[in-house]
Amino acid sequence: MQLFWHRRDLRVADNRGLATAADAGDVVPVFVFDDAVLAHAGASRVRFMLDALERLRESYRERDSDLLVVRGDPSEELPRLAAEYGVERVVWNKDYSGLARERDARVRQSLNEADVARESVHDAIHHEPGSITTNAGDPYSVYTYFWKKWRDREKEASVPAPDADALADVSGEAMPTIEDLGFEEPAATVQEAGTEAARDRLAAFCEDGIFRYAEDRDYPERDATSRLSTDLKWGTIGIREVYEATERAAGDADDGDESESVEEFQSQLAWREFYTHVLFFNPHVVTENYKEYENDIAWRTDDEELRAWKDGETGYPIVDAGMRELREEAYMHNRVRMIVASFLTKDLLQDWREGYAHFREYLSDHDTGNDNGGWQWAASTGTDAQPYFRIFNPTTQGERYDPDATYIKKFVPELRDASAEEIHDWPELSPVEREKAAPDYPEPVVDHSERREAAISMFEDARGDD
Ligand code: FAD
Repeated sequence: MQLFWHRRDLRVADNRGLATAADAGDVVPVFVFDDAVLAHAGASRVRFMLDALERLRESYRERDSDLLVVRGDPSEELPRLAAEYGVERVVWNKDYSGLARERDARVRQSLNEADVARESVHDAIHHEPGSITTNAGDPYSVYTYFWKKWRDREKEASVPAPDADALADVSGEAMPTIEDLGFEEPAATVQEAGTEAARDRLAAFCEDGIFRYAEDRDYPERDATSRLSTDLKWGTIGIREVYEATERAAGDADDGDESESVEEFQSQLAWREFYTHVLFFNPHVVTENYKEYENDIAWRTDDEELRAWKDGETGYPIVDAGMRELREEAYMHNRVRMIVASFLTKDLLQDWREGYAHFREYLSDHDTGNDNGGWQWAASTGTDAQPYFRIFNPTTQGERYDPDATYIKKFVPELRDASAEEIHDWPELSPVEREKAAPDYPEPVVDHSERREAAISMFEDARGDD
């Protein structure tokens, strides 16, 4: 018998580890609720995970098997289950984050001690850390060079779901509720979970959004991105399956612009792999700056400004819309993530780790590599990051990417009766004009031009510039 340990791969199709286990037959699938992992989770993520696990269980039941669910430390639970079911080998897909690798090392050790074989399989990304390097053999720290190699490298094909006869006839315990796991139902509306929902999103995107992605992806109200991030985070769909759909779309493209648009989307998939590699080779980035500075950056601490940012009450409309989207949908559009992250670090001058912790709590797609990469990019502390002196102006960002204020009005009801012009000019309006346009919407918490200067000085001091 084989035990297949599901982690961030909650699907049966295009699952390379599961296919490897199924080759030898008699697979017992298991998921372990690990309190050490749950300690870092937020309610929206747990909600999506539980729903995805239910869908995964259905896939196994349709194949006359079941998903075992246990709670505890995997380094104790897996040898215990191996003994109970007479398992010779435990198989899982690799996870490249530092904490996961430490946990997996403990699991390997305990399985060794129990004399159970194990195998970890490459699955979550196309190209494993270490497989795309500079000519000198070092990991890339500049994305563009990484991307060129990533794009030109051959991709593996997706693998089918195992047949019922490769699976063991087992039956699992009831799934815990979100409360059993120590969480309350999230206030946010979380996307539908499971492979079917992910496939629907992929198919809809490949029919339309992918062809205008390059043009529209920066405009939050245009619905031009795939919304696959939570599926990719939890592996409810395989990366090979996603890539193959994009290649078919490339074949359907009507002209050069459409093909370039498909490639632009594929390059975002490559960003995910780039940040996975960065995290693999630099596990410290979860808590420390990727870039070293001569002096520590003297981030400010101001609880009231931080609260205003978290609650979407900064008086900068595009920032507030994004922060409220996060609370309402456990998601935020990419352009707006960049804007709010820049605002926290360059306008409020607060440490990116505060923002990262907040995103980790509320995003259903929180992924250590991508979230950390995004934050350190915006904070100018990361690899291939935004230069510290190029600071987003939240007003012009709002004007450019949400000209009619449609996205802002969707999430900030206090501004619904104001005109787009009043909304974008909000920091410049007089108190009387503000009272007339939107009496319940807050005054700007800071002056952007003053804070911009302060941010540049803060970075120059840390760099030791004269
Ligand atoms: P699409 O535009 O359709 O992109 C397709 C996929 O490509 C995404 O699902 C994602 O897997 C990947 N991708 C897209 N953009 C990026 C990027 N800039 N970096 C890495 N991968 C990317 N993405 C996460 O998946 N999880 C996070 O926790 C996360 N936190 C972020 C925090 C900040 C501060 C910033 C600036 C970005 C963050 N991103 C994160 C990247 C990006 O915002 C999301 O992947 C994207 O908005 C998800 O929407 P989508 O699936 O419709 O993306």
